[in-house]
Amino acid sequence: ATNGHKQALTVRLCGPRGFCAGVDRAIQIVVAALKKYGPPVYVRHEIVHNRYVVEGLRERGAVFIEELDEIPDAHRDRPVVFSAHGVPKSVPAQAQARDLFYLDATCPLVSKVHKQAMRHQRHGRHVLLVGHAGHPEVIGTMGQLPEGTISLIETVEDAESFRPPDGAPLGYVTQTTLSVEDTAEIIRVLEARFPDLQAPAAESICYATTNRQDAVRKAAPGADLFLIVGAPNSSNSRRLVEVAERSGARRALLVQRAADLPWDEIGEIAVLGLSAGASAPEVLVEEIIDAFAARYQVSIELAVTAEENEVFPVMRALRDVELTRAD
Ligand code: SF4
Repeated sequence: ATNGHKQALTVRLCGPRGFCAGVDRAIQIVVAALKKYGPPVYVRHEIVHNRYVVEGLRERGAVFIEELDEIPDAHRDRPVVFSAHGVPKSVPAQAQARDLFYLDATCPLVSKVHKQAMRHQRHGRHVLLVGHAGHPEVIGTMGQLPEGTISLIETVEDAESFRPPDGAPLGYVTQTTLSVEDTAEIIRVLEARFPDLQAPAAESICYATTNRQDAVRKAAPGADLFLIVGAPNSSNSRRLVEVAERSGARRALLVQRAADLPWDEIGEIAVLGLSAGASAPEVLVEEIIDAFAARYQVSIELAVTAEENEVFPVMRALRDVELTRAD
């Protein structure tokens, strides 16, 4: 379209969207550690699943590693931060064995799931973890318990075919970032088969996941296209794409940032739904809106379903570090 005759586009912007309190805290921990101790600060695993965030921290002196043995002995006194997704117990144990200085940025809501899993175990239950194989949070939660005492359930089929160890009572927890609907279905199947199955004392799917899915569900009906800003390895972002498709958007796509928008495929649209996963910074959402505003006559409509006030403070060791907005 030429400048004078831009086509009208309604952008339905979801709220809440983007950063959750756990992601915000994890990033603050790395930034504060860089400020207090200077670079390098080691970070085990992508602190949050977002390339833009990771690159930004790398430029400031964060060194991303997958395992602790990548830290040379000469750097044993450098801080190492564990990611928001949580870690198996073997990781802090390994850090202690090497006398490393570690800062655990595990989201408090993930730690809560770990505690629930351990509580089931204390009550003599075999634990079922509903989640996706290979995701770092799942690796972390499985790693709270000895092997053989926790089983992963990924799908309804897994729930139908699971065979518990002889006579063991069962309890379950879930990954924090699952689809609320899919999880409910899996739990229904398990509860029908095992009426004594014990739920965790508190819901494992976190407030941020639930709220972002609710807002997408509200905005999706009638959207010609729904964009979720997020990384391909971000579980909660991928669930938002599914929720959008399922709730009436004609099409839904995951996009990392404006430069990746597939304009050739976008075609004729009049209503665009827009949200962002819990690990996607707001600046990437703004970029997307700007990119559409350059091509369309954009009007923004808000789809807000909740207000979030959660703030998770950083650990005491870093509370004396003053962070400004520019940080
Ligand atoms: Fe914590 Fe939920 Fe954010 Fe994960 S998505 S970091 S569990 S608040």
